[in-house]
Amino acid sequence: MSIFNLIYRILRVLLVGAAICGMAYQGKIKEDFEIYKMHAIPALMYHSISEPSPGWPVDLCVKPAVFEEHLRYLKEQGYNVVTARQAMILLKSRQNVMNTVILTFDDGYEDNYTQAFPLLKKYGFRGNFFVVGKDVGKTFNQNGIIQYMSFDQLKEMHRQGMEIGSHTMSHDPLAVIKPNFLPWEIYQPLNLFYEKMGFWISGIAFPNGSYNAAVVAEIKKYVKFEYGFSGVPGCNTLRIVNERPFEFRRAGVYDRGRGAKDIDRALQKCYIFGYLEDKGISAELLDKTLTFLQELIE
Ligand SMILES: [Zn+2]
Repeated sequence: MSIFNLIYRILRVLLVGAAICGMAYQGKIKEDFEIYKMHAIPALMYHSISEPSPGWPVDLCVKPAVFEEHLRYLKEQGYNVVTARQAMILLKSRQNVMNTVILTFDDGYEDNYTQAFPLLKKYGFRGNFFVVGKDVGKTFNQNGIIQYMSFDQLKEMHRQGMEIGSHTMSHDPLAVIKPNFLPWEIYQPLNLFYEKMGFWISGIAFPNGSYNAAVVAEIKKYVKFEYGFSGVPGCNTLRIVNERPFEFRRAGVYDRGRGAKDIDRALQKCYIFGYLEDKGISAELLDKTLTFLQELIE
């Protein structure tokens, strides 16, 4: 990295930091923030609901007992847990959506069926499950056994109110692969899931949050798709639904050993990023800046 590039990046961090601090010190902000939350729905991202196996990235796993702590917290706080499609309907009807949240699960691990699904039902919640086309029902021996949900399990979850969506065909990052593979990654799961489960899916979540304008253009070709999840932190509002339905915002929930505090942190991150984005501060830039700052500190 050149010295100019470094100075530019540091200046950018300072500028964004100053903007946030300046806003935080104005009394009006708090009131405005509460109003924003009436029109904004955060989405949280989980992967595996299991004890982390040796060799597995810790961030992929939330222990079942901790996951239940998260759900209990949402219940106690009076959260309405809805699917992405329900969230779109609520936002379009311009209702007050304060304390509404979407829970999403990526990759299609079998523990989503054995652990997450029963717990969601226990609390009267719903979830969005994004599965990888070629992995459905498969078992892999990779740093321990990885088992993926089967079509029968997915069908049962769908029958009981869960929303099943695509996490592409192969899980390759969409902005990185050759553009001529995009139709296969995006279109193929639509047909495959319909053929195997008898219903059309309407949502997609981008592997590793990787997407660009070509990816969005490809998805728009297929009318069955109604929404797509990026990895950009923030909240989903009527503006996002209308203008960027294939760039829904969401943030990961990680098990940092603090129980309910970990989900609360993730929710606050969504609300703050969403609020700043609503005020014209790019969520992507803010996210990159904070990551850069974190790397500088580490
Ligand atoms: Zn994934």
